[in-house]
Amino acid sequence: MEERKRILYVEDDFNNRILVGRVLQAAGYEILEAEDGLTGIRMAQETKPDLILMDINMPGLDGYAAATKIKSLPGLSGTPVIAVTANVMAGDRERALTAGCDGYLPKPIDVDTLPNQVREFLGGRRETVDEDQERGFLREFSERLVASLEEKIEELTTANEQLKRSDVMKSRFIAVAAHELRTPLTVIRGYVDILVSVNRSSPKTDSNTVMMLEGIATGVKRLHEIVQDMLDVTHIEAGTLQLQVVPLSLSSIITQVADSYRDSLARRQLTLTQEPLTHLPSIWGDNVRLQQVFKNLIGNAIKFTPDGGSITISGRKLGQEAHLIVPGRLQGQNFIQVTVADTGVGIDPAEHEHIFERFYEVRDPSFHGSTSKTDFMGGGAGLGLSIARGVTEAHEGWIWAESEGYDSEHCPGSRFHVILPVGDAPKR
Ligand code: ADP
Repeated sequence: MEERKRILYVEDDFNNRILVGRVLQAAGYEILEAEDGLTGIRMAQETKPDLILMDINMPGLDGYAAATKIKSLPGLSGTPVIAVTANVMAGDRERALTAGCDGYLPKPIDVDTLPNQVREFLGGRRETVDEDQERGFLREFSERLVASLEEKIEELTTANEQLKRSDVMKSRFIAVAAHELRTPLTVIRGYVDILVSVNRSSPKTDSNTVMMLEGIATGVKRLHEIVQDMLDVTHIEAGTLQLQVVPLSLSSIITQVADSYRDSLARRQLTLTQEPLTHLPSIWGDNVRLQQVFKNLIGNAIKFTPDGGSITISGRKLGQEAHLIVPGRLQGQNFIQVTVADTGVGIDPAEHEHIFERFYEVRDPSFHGSTSKTDFMGGGAGLGLSIARGVTEAHEGWIWAESEGYDSEHCPGSRFHVILPVGDAPKR
């Protein structure tokens, strides 16, 4: 039995697609449909149809351009493309043939003759245009393409300017919101802390009241941290992050940070192993800011590792090979690399760079079920890694992520590497 011929119909009008689809299906053809030029090109590549019916007047990429592109694709140059158009202007047929079409069917489609015409084109019928006419239409065709290219570039330039403007507005909003929130929050935090300590030690206050006050204090502290993160992001973006640079040992910074998580690690039954880092040379850096980097990394390792897992921190000295590991980003001769590895859910390789963007979270934030920063898969504002990168860059270093992928069942784990230069004080 003869195999059913496959026809791709590229047409933006739904009713036409239904009509032509039915007629050709009834005539024994398999019909594929694309509703615009770009989809038509993609489907032509993927499905390699026996014939393409191409509507000419479509928004976006029109049928002439789609036909030209399809004819240039490997494996499709011999596939008949038949223009279908409601244009009744003189030269429409020639225009379509010049663009690469092999035939022309005027709209409205004559449903009685359509199956026959399709059969003829499938059987080898080809329409041609004479050379002189073709030359004229080719020029007109290129002029039209250039005009539409110009229009698209203008549209893109305007859209790009609008995007830049809204990015500036967004940054301004973050800066203003963070500044305005910080002052009242500091006042609230101060009073709440006083209330907690007074009521904790007062025999007159019942335990429920103390518990509620402690709850308020925890919430206010978290809010304060988020606002502080927003301010840090603002400074990083504006290049105004101030570093208090002193010679320091990363080993003691990491030990301090790890200690600060002791309760959370115990609660989540996580093992944190810190390999000896004392052999690492001291570096020039900002103690508080570098603590912030490792706080975020270890905090995330806790957050994204299921109970019972492990976190390992290791470090090594690097020479010139650092430039091979992070091409084009580092300056200098000597570096140290610290790695925070976990046995957690891992990160899809497609997300490895995005997670360093401001407010970026792989999961939908509406799934945040918890407010604690160290609960498994607890929520966050998506600022930790962008701050970590900003701080590392301000130290003329780099931070990046490695993971085989995201798998909450088998937990492939993630590794976050920080490289920092050993040598002179950073210039900023
Ligand atoms: P937050 O943790 O507040 O959401 P971050 O900027 O610290 O924001 O992290 C961004 C995202 O990167 C997280 O939401 C998470 O999806 C992913 N991520 C960060 N660290 C890890 C990790 N150790 N394991 C798996 N995913 C991680």
